[in-house]
Amino acid sequence: MSFRSHPRPRPLDPAKFRDPLRTAKGEPRARVPLAALRTLWFNTGTLCNITCQHCYIESSPRNDRLIYLSAEEVAAFLDEAEALGAPVETVGFTGGEPFMNRALPAMLADVLSRPRRLIAVVLTNAMAPLWQKRAALLSLRHRFGAERLILRVSLDHYRAERHDLERGRGSFAKSMQGLAWLAREGFTVHVAARAGFTEETEDALREGFARLFHDHAIPIDAQDPIALTLFPEMDPTIDVPEITQACWSILGKSPTSVMCATSRMVVKRKGAERPAVVACTLLPYDPQFELGATLADASRPVPLNHPHCAKFCVLGGGACSR
Ligand code: SF4
Ligand code: SF4
Repeated sequence: MSFRSHPRPRPLDPAKFRDPLRTAKGEPRARVPLAALRTLWFNTGTLCNITCQHCYIESSPRNDRLIYLSAEEVAAFLDEAEALGAPVETVGFTGGEPFMNRALPAMLADVLSRPRRLIAVVLTNAMAPLWQKRAALLSLRHRFGAERLILRVSLDHYRAERHDLERGRGSFAKSMQGLAWLAREGFTVHVAARAGFTEETEDALREGFARLFHDHAIPIDAQDPIALTLFPEMDPTIDVPEITQACWSILGKSPTSVMCATSRMVVKRKGAERPAVVACTLLPYDPQFELGATLADASRPVPLNHPHCAKFCVLGGGACSR
């Protein structure tokens, strides 16, 4: 399988993705009802220790559009999920760099100590902010074990020079230091990589990562698509088809296969008094994907009114209209 993209993609048709109810052709736009809340994400804040060229959320040491959540705010949403009887299985933390938020260890302890035996996932670059929290991480592992605490480390590519092109010179070495430490200490580690910024096939990328993991004694099966996730590029300026209600049967897909059928994300915008719940991790800023102040408010269906909905969540290479 190849992730190579077309050399000259068409720019997005400005008539598309304007009306949440209808596509540019006037057809009823697809909507995704919340089937069951199984994964609850928290964006702990958009500040990051580095600035990557293609960060989809535009994080940096200065971007605080999404401010730090507090442990109390996270606890309130976990309480609400329990009160609603939501079948939450996994609680994810993303940023920015989640370890920049000092309350992250307390949030993780809260998640891991709940009676549902929730799984906690942290998306991290494993650089200095994580390195400085080693003692807190060891304490969490000691209290709760390593099985339910997953650290998913971003490594754009298995070669240092490609990774550093995106993230700055020396970044790869620092992330590898963090990843190798996590592995040595017995934490459950996954890796998130980028598939689209080299000409390599998926097989070649997985082979490259397999060599890297072997050389650094990282216990990750590079053929496992969850343990090593390869993300496609995200460019909302490239044209994609809109998804109509008819697309589900044309494509042979179910709305329940899409992320917002089973997940929501909590964010706190700069200047806001309280957090808000958005449809998914991919669209943290777009106000039309903000669904309410509580999980109950945010249980309404999501109209698929963004290029990401089409490109990343529904089509996956297929198309039912243009
Ligand atoms: S480390 Fe992650 S959150 Fe930070 S700038 Fe890079 S891609 Fe964005
Ligand atoms: S990008 Fe669109 S379809 Fe995908 S999870 Fe988010 S709201 Fe749903």
